[in-house]
Amino acid sequence: MLDVRGIKKVYESKDRTVEAVRDLTFTLQAGELACLVGPSGCGKTTLLKIMSGLLEPTSGEVLLEGKRVEGPPPGMAVVFQEYGRSLFPWMTVRENVELPLKQKKLAAARRTELVEESLAAVGLAEAHAAYPWQLSGGMQQRVAIARAVAYEPHVLLMDEPFAAVDAQTRADLEDLIRDLWHKFQVTTLFVTHDIDEAVYLGQRVLILSNSPTVIRDDLAVDLPDQRDQLTTRSSPRFAELRARVYEQIHRAKTPAAEPVGAGATALPTSADHGSTEF
Ligand code: ADP
Ligand code: MG
Repeated sequence: MLDVRGIKKVYESKDRTVEAVRDLTFTLQAGELACLVGPSGCGKTTLLKIMSGLLEPTSGEVLLEGKRVEGPPPGMAVVFQEYGRSLFPWMTVRENVELPLKQKKLAAARRTELVEESLAAVGLAEAHAAYPWQLSGGMQQRVAIARAVAYEPHVLLMDEPFAAVDAQTRADLEDLIRDLWHKFQVTTLFVTHDIDEAVYLGQRVLILSNSPTVIRDDLAVDLPDQRDQLTTRSSPRFAELRARVYEQIHRAKTPAAEPVGAGATALPTSADHGSTEF
C-alpha cells in the first residue's frame, strides 16, 4: 500500500546543513495501523511531510499504491499536531469537514452523508454548527480527525495529534483512533514521541533513532485486538513491549552525528531540540 524507500532529507541553508533523516525504508500493508515513535527533533514531521508530498526528499522515494508521490496524493489524509491552525476559524465545524469533499468534487448529497457520518463517529454530531474557536482543544482535534475520515482516505497519516491535549482527552482520542480504524480499516501511520501511546495504539511500532535518523527496530505488538486503557496498559505484555521500545530509544540516544559531506560546518546536536520527552 505504502512504500517508503531510502528516504533521506538534508536541510540546507546559508549557514548550516542539517541531515534530518538519513535513511528510512519501510512498508505499510493495506489496513495496517502502525505507530512511528522517536525522540523530538528526529525527523518525524519531516518524514510525514515527504510522505504526503509536501516536501521533496533529498533522495529516496515514497510509493502510494505503486505510484510515486510527487505532490499531495488524492488518496491520503493528514492530521497535524496543531489543530488550532488546521481548522478555518471562519467556517463552522460542518464546513470545515466538508471542504476537502468539495475539492474532491463529490455531489452535495454524498457530502452531507459523509460529514454526518464522520461527525457522529467522533461524537460531535451535535456540534456541526459551532465554530472551531467555540470548542475545546480535544473537540477541535476530533473535528480534524472527522475531516480526515470523511475524506475516505486510503492512507491516514497523523503527526503527534494528541500532544497538546490533556491526559484524559488524550486517552479518549486514542480509543477513538482504534475504534475508527476498526470501523473503516484505513491504513494508518500514527507518529508520536510517546512510547506508551505507540504500544497502546499500534499493531506494529517502528522505532526511530535520534537525528540523523534511521529505523532502529520494527516491533510487532502482539496485544489483544480489543484494547482498553485500564486492562491493556496494566498487562504484563504491555510492560514488556514498552520496556523493549524504551530500551531501543535509550540506545538510540547515543550520539551518531557526523558531518554531512565536506561542506558541512555547524551541525546542530540533538540538544538543540530537547529530547526531554524520554
Ligand atoms: P520531529 O518532528 O521528529 O520533532 P522534525 O522533522 O520537525 O522532527 O525536525 C527534524 C530536524 O530537522 C530537526 O533538527 C529540525 O531542527 C530540522 N528541521 C526541520 N525543519 C527544518 C527546516 N525547514 N529547515 C531546516 N531544518 C529543519
Ligand atoms: Mg514533529
